[in-house]
Amino acid sequence: MNEHVHTWLQAYYDGELKGVRLRRVEEHLESCAACRAELEQMQSLSALLQGSPLPEFTPGDRFVAQVALRLPHKAPESGWQRTLRLGWQIIPFGLVGAWAFAQAAFLMVTILVLVDQFCTVCRDYLAWLSLSSNTIWWAVGLNLVVSILLGLMYSSWLAGWWVSRQHAQVSPQNGLSHSA
Ligand SMILES: [Zn+2]
Repeated sequence: MNEHVHTWLQAYYDGELKGVRLRRVEEHLESCAACRAELEQMQSLSALLQGSPLPEFTPGDRFVAQVALRLPHKAPESGWQRTLRLGWQIIPFGLVGAWAFAQAAFLMVTILVLVDQFCTVCRDYLAWLSLSSNTIWWAVGLNLVVSILLGLMYSSWLAGWWVSRQHAQVSPQNGLSHSA
C-alpha cells in the first residue's frame, strides 16, 4: 500500500493539486479508507463552519428575541430628533417668557402715560413719545390680543403634549420609542 496522503489532503480538498500529485492522491483515496475518512471529516467540518452558526441551538424566533434583548430599550436619538425634542420642551417656557415680556412692556407704557398725565415737569421730557390718553387704550388692546394669542399657543402645546403622553402610555415597554 502507498504512503498515506494526509499531508496533501487539505491541498487536495482546496483543489490546489495538479498532475502527478493529484493522480497519486486520488489513487490512494480509492484504496485507503483512513484517508477517505479524513477527507470526509474535512468536508463535514467545512460545511458546519460555512452554515449558519449553531442553527439547532438558536432557532430563528429565539435568535430574534435574543437580539431584541441586547438592543437598548430606547433607540438612540439622532441629532435632529434631540434638537426637535428640546425645542418642543422649550416652547412653554418661551410662551411664558413672551407673555411676561408683554406684561412688562404694558406696565412700562401705563407708568409712562400716568407720569405724562400727572407730572407736568416730566411731560417736557416725554414729549418725544407723543403720549395721549388714547395710548393706554392701544396698550390695553394690544396686551389683550397678545395674551389671547399666547394663551391659544400654550393650549395647543398642552393638547399636543397630552396626546403624545397618551400615545406613550398605550405602548409602554415594547422597546420602540415613537418620536413624532
Ligand atoms: Zn491513507
